[in-house]
Amino acid sequence: MTDDAGRIPRLKGHIVPVRTVQETNPEIEFADAYVVQIRQKCAAKVSKLIDSTYPKDPNRPFTHLRRFVKEVFLPEHLKIEINQRGTSSGSNDNENAEVPTIFALIQPPLPEISHLKALLAPFVPSSPQPSPLSATETEKETSAEPPSGQSLDKFFLTTTIPIYPPLSAAQADHWSKTLWPTGYNAAFARATIAPPPPLLSATETNIAVKAAEFLGLACRVAREAKVLKRGRGVGVVVVDPAIASLSHGSSAEQQQEEEEGGIVAVAGDARFCAPGIENPMEDNSSSSSSTGYNPNCEGGPECHAVMRVVEMIAIQRRNEGTPASEHGNLHNPALSPLESRYLYHPASTSSSSTEQQQPSSSSPSEPTDLTTTTRILPRSAGGYLCTDLDIYMTHEPCLSCSMGILLSRFRAVTFLRRGRLVTGGLASEPTSIATKAHQPTAGTRDNNYYGLFWRKELNWRAMCFEFVQDEDKEGEMHVEEGCEEPGEYHA
Ligand SMILES: [Zn+2]
Repeated sequence: MTDDAGRIPRLKGHIVPVRTVQETNPEIEFADAYVVQIRQKCAAKVSKLIDSTYPKDPNRPFTHLRRFVKEVFLPEHLKIEINQRGTSSGSNDNENAEVPTIFALIQPPLPEISHLKALLAPFVPSSPQPSPLSATETEKETSAEPPSGQSLDKFFLTTTIPIYPPLSAAQADHWSKTLWPTGYNAAFARATIAPPPPLLSATETNIAVKAAEFLGLACRVAREAKVLKRGRGVGVVVVDPAIASLSHGSSAEQQQEEEEGGIVAVAGDARFCAPGIENPMEDNSSSSSSTGYNPNCEGGPECHAVMRVVEMIAIQRRNEGTPASEHGNLHNPALSPLESRYLYHPASTSSSSTEQQQPSSSSPSEPTDLTTTTRILPRSAGGYLCTDLDIYMTHEPCLSCSMGILLSRFRAVTFLRRGRLVTGGLASEPTSIATKAHQPTAGTRDNNYYGLFWRKELNWRAMCFEFVQDEDKEGEMHVEEGCEEPGEYHA
């Protein structure tokens, strides 16, 4: 570690995209469905009847699946089956061969099969046919019983359907032939399941350049929180990637500016100096990995590093145009030295290269020039609170902070893989490293792997990366100096 004037050491390692829950749980990508052969002219009636009888799952509209399919378009296994059952329209032993039929899909949540059979019995090909002249009237008057037993069963089939839309036209084609006719919509296809590959790849390339530096700084912020006994050794750094990717001159000053360029704010955990905490270290200093959460000894999620950095940015934006010197008392807990330094450090590398001509010591009597007082864009510059910003973290954030990241609309979040926590909200699967370190023991709760960064249920999705440090390859759980050891606490 260096002193305040020195360079921040880069971590050694590389980033990898975190997979989404939909990518890591392929077993939930398919479901069973019923297929019912009905008279073609009853399709509209059957559609209405099914909709009014069986509730739909609004989270699974299955808009990529065809609701009614003609025999010629059925997947192979169903064609073979109806041939064996003798219900094919081309089959000679089908007494109803002259009745045009169509196949209806009954999607999950699946009704009781006996109930479905009773409901749709009047519409299968062998049921008594209404007179072509007055369909509804004749149907009411008919006394003939709809088919039952084996003569009914042969019109009910099952198939497997893909729960999620296909990711490509080729996949749609494959599913149409093997499962059920499936439509492909390029615009909708992958977005709810995982980041579109071109976007993910471009972001990964962009983030990979400086992730090691920003995470090095996050570790330093974490150490500060720990050393000053403000909180656990957890740190975050918020970066504006548009500024971070600008390149500047080669002088020492310019190099330092370049290294720090784009850093919007940093924050450490502050749960032990939260408002109202009387004896913070009483229970926590001795056992830093203690599992229990005691509200008398530590603040809640609002004192976690993520929530604090988001609040700093919110306060800055609210106080647009006010001199930085008047902001200090708005922060509770007060800012740490590193936090103040990065929040109020002149962002001289921000908008254009001509700014390099300005005097290096900016005067505090010029509060209207926001780039000299804060790195945070004013509200007038548009965007939501953290739109297009990236966040780098020493640990995997808790559920509350994970949601905070999404609600603030960050572009991407990157955390140290060795900072994975059982209480985390972002990972979607175990890693060999994480499992080695956290051998499940009796009484220890399992990680639920929420993968919150990209969930189709949520209205904002962020890309997520893990930084895998080189030492991880040997299975060694080295923790950066000052960073909190992984445990059952929340970060
Ligand atoms: Zn948290």
